[in-house]
Amino acid sequence: MDYLSTRDKALRLRAAEAIAMGLSRDGGLFTPVLFPHLSTLEIETLCGMSYQRRAAYVMGKFLEDFSPEELNYYAVSAYGPDASVITSPGQGKFDHPEVAPLHPVDGNTWCLELWHGPTSAFKDMALQMLPLLLSASLKKTGEEKTACILVATSGDTGKAALEGFKDVEQTKILVFYPENGVSEIQKLQMVTQEGNNVGVCAVQGNFDDAQNGVKRIFSDEEMREELAKRGCFLSSANSINWGRILPQIVYYISAYCDLVRSGTVKLGQKINYCVPTGNFGNILSCYYARKMGVPIGRLICASNRNDVLTDFIRTGVYDRNRPFHTTMSPSMDILISSNLERLLFDLSEWDDELVRGYMAQLNQTGRYEINETIKERLQMLFYGGFCSEEDTSATIAAMYREHGYLIDTHTAVAAKVLSDYRRESGDDTPAVFVSTASPYKFCDSVLAAIGETPAANSLDRIEQLRQVSGVTPPVRLAALKGKPVRFTSVTERSGMDSVVKSFLQ
Ligand SMILES: *Cc1c(COP(=O)(O)O)cnc(C)c1O
Repeated sequence: MDYLSTRDKALRLRAAEAIAMGLSRDGGLFTPVLFPHLSTLEIETLCGMSYQRRAAYVMGKFLEDFSPEELNYYAVSAYGPDASVITSPGQGKFDHPEVAPLHPVDGNTWCLELWHGPTSAFKDMALQMLPLLLSASLKKTGEEKTACILVATSGDTGKAALEGFKDVEQTKILVFYPENGVSEIQKLQMVTQEGNNVGVCAVQGNFDDAQNGVKRIFSDEEMREELAKRGCFLSSANSINWGRILPQIVYYISAYCDLVRSGTVKLGQKINYCVPTGNFGNILSCYYARKMGVPIGRLICASNRNDVLTDFIRTGVYDRNRPFHTTMSPSMDILISSNLERLLFDLSEWDDELVRGYMAQLNQTGRYEINETIKERLQMLFYGGFCSEEDTSATIAAMYREHGYLIDTHTAVAAKVLSDYRRESGDDTPAVFVSTASPYKFCDSVLAAIGETPAANSLDRIEQLRQVSGVTPPVRLAALKGKPVRFTSVTERSGMDSVVKSFLQ
């Protein structure tokens, strides 16, 4: 299947080329020319499979350059052996045999836990897979240069990408994070990263500054030539890369299958999904699953105080000219949601000229307004809501008290917006809200929310939360204590170019 750019639909690439490049040279995002339809029979067949098999099957629909054997092998390498093979916990890469399990909350609501991977955030679902796809794509396209992965992170992507790409052949990875925009534990996870092909650097600014810096470097001709001389080319592990979006489609299909398999939902019956959203990558994957024919009703887009998407869905106006808030759900502190571009491309029925225009306006004025047709389609599919800081804490407390279930700050945003949606719309369709991080990744906010005073040292809070809640912390987070710090550099925004050059010396 071919891939085209959201800013130039005449451009056609093979899957391996799209994945190796990451971002199109015209600044657009690669999108498949076709979304294969899953028949009811196929969904029924998927219900009988393990997560790994489902992943290989669904990805195979989009990746004709890859054989089923290859994809099955990658699925097992990324997510660990099938549950049937695992005999004790901790044997797989993921610390749960089902990889992405559903936690029942009440009779009509489930929480999809996407954080059982090595870095305890949902980014692992895609970033354990992307390096395998990318490295194979280099071979398939005959690329001999080293892929240098540049990442701008709001916290979780950076660590998950480092962990996925560490010591992967023919790749190097450099991560930029906002100096004061990530949690203490997120920062520690990154600056202690092992591996011989990795680099980490703080940027003075917020996530958008880091992301804009990376985008600028990507479109810099001179930089491209300079790196080519050193035998490198730039690629992306951010969710602008199709190889990130694709593995995420799998869990929306898989969770539906799990509900059918357990007899809770009848095959064909609709469910709603509520997704805590930042760069719009996760919820876009849900939209694509729906497009493929999975019975999904409403897509509920949950934001924190940075409510640019809520306003967009409600009014059709995207306006980033507003205060940037640093919140307790930092992975969603974003004012420019890159993947919205793919949605606009799709909703406009591939009007690349229109998309180019919106993106140019966003670049120049920070604002654009979609036309009535797109707005109508958007509002039919999506509901947008946001959650304040107080409500985030109150939701963590209520979930813990009423359901004995410990959730992190991002997940709490989703849980709250789902309940707002249900109250406002009266729609009581069975619903799944998505849990994107382990509560242990945001111990201070979680402890405070359940009425504890967080210990002074951020690593001591892991043990503190364990004692209070009785929930076992992820092994790798607990092991952060005592790990040596390897990376201490900080750069101004304008210095990002030279950091890249010296990293690739
Ligand atoms: C990245 C992230 C999000 C936002 O996901 P997007 O794909 O950027 O919308 C939400 N929660 C957590 C914990 C994350 O790491």
